[in-house]
Amino acid sequence: MIVIENARVLNLSPSSLSGPVDIAVDGSTIAAVGQGLAAKYPEAERHRADGIVSPGLVCSHNHFYSALARGLMVAVQPSKDFAQQLKHLWWRLDRALDPDIVRASGLVGAAEAARWGVTSVVDHHASPEFIDGSLDVLAEGFKTVGLRGVLCYETTDRNGMDGARAGVRENLRWAKAVDDARAAGQEPLMEAMIGAHAPFTVGDDTLSSLSDAVRASGRGIHIHVAEDKYDAVHSRHEHGLDIAVRLDRAGVLGPASLLVHGLYLTDSEVDLINERDAFLAHNAQSNMNNAVGYNALLPKYRNAVLGTDGIGSDMLAAANWAYFKHRDSGGQLWMDAFLGMLQNGNRLLERCFPGKRFGRVEPGYQADLAFWDYDPPTPLVDGNVAGHAAFGLSSGFVSGTMVGGKFVFKNRHATFDYAAAMAAGREQTVRLWKRMEERV
Ligand SMILES: [Zn+2]
Repeated sequence: MIVIENARVLNLSPSSLSGPVDIAVDGSTIAAVGQGLAAKYPEAERHRADGIVSPGLVCSHNHFYSALARGLMVAVQPSKDFAQQLKHLWWRLDRALDPDIVRASGLVGAAEAARWGVTSVVDHHASPEFIDGSLDVLAEGFKTVGLRGVLCYETTDRNGMDGARAGVRENLRWAKAVDDARAAGQEPLMEAMIGAHAPFTVGDDTLSSLSDAVRASGRGIHIHVAEDKYDAVHSRHEHGLDIAVRLDRAGVLGPASLLVHGLYLTDSEVDLINERDAFLAHNAQSNMNNAVGYNALLPKYRNAVLGTDGIGSDMLAAANWAYFKHRDSGGQLWMDAFLGMLQNGNRLLERCFPGKRFGRVEPGYQADLAFWDYDPPTPLVDGNVAGHAAFGLSSGFVSGTMVGGKFVFKNRHATFDYAAAMAAGREQTVRLWKRMEERV
């Protein structure tokens, strides 16, 4: 047991800030929150927080495979539209990934996420020249760091039908590995979804295989939709159906489904997604970077969550980008709505990790926590957390991170070898960029 002393509990949504309390953590869960717990549990290891403790942050859509693209120095042809951008850059990068590069990408992605107070990352992985077993290799970084993760493989027809079948197979293999671990009495920090790239690269045969995989594994689909107008037009042109209707008819739209982007979904599709209680991940930085437009229907979603789409894992920054982009687009939501979307990531986790509770510092919840040494120049109280989150609080104030009752960062120091992780990243980056040059 660990007793965290002198913590003020901050909930981002609904927002609240408590007076000083202690938090007792037993194994992977919070056992008690209150006064004098160090005296009550004299055998426990003690940790003085002397600051703010919040539930850990959740990144609901990421691509650790792109972690080594930062500062990319490879000649990339200019693109006239989003589809060309995928071809010229991202599909060239994913084809260049091999086991050592995937391993380093997962490690640096997980290490940085932990640094920003992120305790869980929902990842969407692609490495078309290394599919079988790729999720095990990606998971190594999560395990080294101690980060919680939900992994899947981005199934697609774009590299041929053998590649598509291998994608489905890898999703099922990974889901079964998680089931086996649980059946063996373990409490894995890793979970599975059934991954697909995007409707325009997933034909009906593959969609049908994915639907079978969703049913067989009991997991939800994780798929990009309508990131660009092309995807929505393609669905109506090729299949005669709106994207959400096509997915629904295939039987993959349900409470554990995670659709990503959705910029060109229509009102009736949002209604259908809400009716099915599915999730929509919004990635403001990525949408702005790709100049694909803005998701003006975002306020309509019952289950909107936030991701970075591969642009790091700083989730407080992601919430800020989402808020400021919304304001810039003439939207009326206040920052509290975006903290609500960040908080919704915990509901997604609860659907992925059956029987576990996430997102509150209360007894019975998972001990996934972020520690902050934020010393604000204006009062921070229950009613103005969103104002601090928009205009002052940042991930730079994160001083510690705990996942499932274990510190992964403590007093601003990693409990794993952070420098070695970054060095491994830089070493594999040299290889990745060279392999990209070879794959024009
Ligand atoms: Zn994405």
